[in-house]
Amino acid sequence: MPRRRSGLGARPGKLGDVDERAKPPLIISACLLGVACNHEGRGSPRAVVEELAERYRLIPVCPEVLGGLPTPRAAAELRGGDGADVLAAGGARVVNVDGEDVTAAYRRGAEAAVAVARAVGAKRAVLKAQSPSCGSSAVYDGTFSRRLVPGRGVTAAALAAAGLEVGSEEDAAGAAPPAGEAGRR
Ligand code: SF4
Repeated sequence: MPRRRSGLGARPGKLGDVDERAKPPLIISACLLGVACNHEGRGSPRAVVEELAERYRLIPVCPEVLGGLPTPRAAAELRGGDGADVLAAGGARVVNVDGEDVTAAYRRGAEAAVAVARAVGAKRAVLKAQSPSCGSSAVYDGTFSRRLVPGRGVTAAALAAAGLEVGSEEDAAGAAPPAGEAGRR
């Protein structure tokens, strides 16, 4: 791979012999990298991140933090529908375990994640499974009884609506890049 240098001779973005800037961008839930941003104030590090980092330039986002929520924070679940229903303003809400409606913060976080994805030209996102923001195929049912139902979290739904391929850390290993993703930025 040809080496690129700035005018000062430095190579920002270089990691070993790999030019990080040449990899396609990947939106990823920040907690999967170990960032202590989940509702309990902890991270959710996963080994698959290392494999993804070999193929992608990782762009970490935590929608709930970007939406203005504190860390730690009360656990929240979707009620009346999934993330797509929340975005459609059809009556679905995000409510925390204290009974507080936090829908607006979840929508803000989703908008911020979409803005980041557009800014970097990401075509794919790997998001933490089962989160009311990041869940990509199942979310808790709103009863705080650990029951999962099919559906996406609010940010996962927003990124999918923006055209990204959205999956979770559970199905990320070895997944082929989306068509057209090989284009370099
Ligand atoms: Fe933040 Fe998403 Fe991780 Fe929750 S699952 S802590 S919203 S990145």
